Amino acid sequence: MKPLNQISIKDLSQVKMIVFDVDGILVQRGTKIKQVGNTTTLQTKIINKKQIEQIKELHELGFLINISSGRGLYMLQEMFREILSFVSLTYENGSATWYQGKIHQHVNSFERTKDIFPKLKRVTSANKNVKGFEPKEFIITIHCTKKIKEIEAVVAQEKDLITVWNGEAYDILIKKDQTKATGLKQAMKIFKLKKENVLAVGDNYNDQELLEASGIPISADKSRVKGKFYLPLEGKFLPADAVMQKILLLKKTS
Ligand SMILES: [Mg+2]
Repeated sequence: MKPLNQISIKDLSQVKMIVFDVDGILVQRGTKIKQVGNTTTLQTKIINKKQIEQIKELHELGFLINISSGRGLYMLQEMFREILSFVSLTYENGSATWYQGKIHQHVNSFERTKDIFPKLKRVTSANKNVKGFEPKEFIITIHCTKKIKEIEAVVAQEKDLITVWNGEAYDILIKKDQTKATGLKQAMKIFKLKKENVLAVGDNYNDQELLEASGIPISADKSRVKGKFYLPLEGKFLPADAVMQKILLLKKTS
């Protein structure tokens, strides 16, 4: 892996689409969620005005922008409201892509997750370390203050499901199918792109497949994911900010 400052205009020559993970890349890590009885409180994070302007500039230079997140569509639409006319949103870990009002569903998880949901509710209901189930359509996301072996044990009984722990929550996913790589490959079909046309930026375990499916992978946490280039985890700027600054500078000075 090379530090991002070594990326050159030549590396960007075939890039048509830039893919950003959200948490840890466009906003700081950490989701605030609280569930009391039937009331779920979930804080919406705000994308800085600066990043919105940078994305607009990349769009004006002709780049497609894809957001790839484990979050639900409702939340991504809220975060990217101002630029929804041109960004595509791949959500719930590659399960579907929203683009200009149309939803392209990539994975149907209903049959494989319907029976596990009540089991997970049961083992987590009295656990004080469980903060809540994040509202999702295709994946199950359980926020916890620490890893919980009962959750892992329930999922381990289902041979085609896995847990991915990201430090603040478990995502429960269909093994191999429900990955950000599935989402990227399907988004590439929508836009008729090849691997070498994609630059992707991610920081967490669920980004590994995404980065591997892209031509120019950039890791924002090299202890968790591997890329061709990397950024420091605690840099002066948010990873997306640093990447966009670099691309805009290279494009404008070439
Ligand atoms: Mg992330």
